[in-house]
Amino acid sequence: MNITKSDLLGIAAKPAQYPEAGPPEIAFAGRSNVGKSSLLNLLTGRKALARVSGSPGKTRTINFYTVNDDAFRIVDLPGYGYAKVSKSVSASWGDMIEAYLKKRDTLVKVVLLADIRHAPSAQDIQMYDWLKSYGLDGIIAATKADKISRNALEKQIALIRKTLGAKDAVIVPVSALKRTGVKELLAEIELALTPGTPEEV
Ligand code: GDP
Repeated sequence: MNITKSDLLGIAAKPAQYPEAGPPEIAFAGRSNVGKSSLLNLLTGRKALARVSGSPGKTRTINFYTVNDDAFRIVDLPGYGYAKVSKSVSASWGDMIEAYLKKRDTLVKVVLLADIRHAPSAQDIQMYDWLKSYGLDGIIAATKADKISRNALEKQIALIRKTLGAKDAVIVPVSALKRTGVKELLAEIELALTPGTPEEV
C-alpha cells in the first residue's frame, strides 16, 4: 500500500467535535517528542501533515486525516508525558485519549510509538494497557532507529516488548531521518485494515 493522498479532515478535543465516522481509523499515539509528527509526515509523503514540534507537547487535540480518497483515516492523538504541563492538563489529555479509544467504533488499531533507545515509560505502559483492554494493541513503531547500532536493535526491541508486556505485537523499527521502516509499517496497517484478519475474527 502507498499513501497517495491525505488531507486534514478535522480537529477535536471532545467526541462531539469528531468528524462523522466513516471508513476505518488507524490512530498513532506516543509521548511527546517520540517522533510522531515526523513519522506521520514520512508515511503520508507530506512535509507538513503533522507539525514537527519545536515545542513538544503543543498538540492538544486529536487530528483526523483522510487518506487515499477516504479509504481509511489516520488519527494523530495528542502526545503525552511532557514534563512541563500541569497535572490537570495531563489528566485532561488522558481523558481525551481514553474517550476516543472507548467511543470510536470505527477505530481498528492504534500504533504505539516508542523511542528505540529507551525503555518505555510508565505512561507508555499505561497507554499500551488501555490498547490491550480495548483490543487495539499489536503494532508498535520503534522510532529513531538510526540512533542505535544494528547490534543493539534486537536488544532494544526485546526491552520494549518486555516492558510493555507486548508478547505478540509486531514491533517495527522506523527512522524518519533515514526514511526506513515505512513499507513494513504500512504493510502492518494494511493488514489491520483488512477485514477477516485473525485479530478481527
Ligand atoms: P513528536 O513530538 O512526537 O511529534 O516528535 P517530532 O516528530 O516533532 O520529533 C521530535 C524530535 O525528534 C525532532 O527534533 C525530530 O527532528 C527528531 N526526530 C524525529 N524522528 C527522528 C528520527 O527518525 N531520527 C532522528 N535521529 N531524529 C528524529
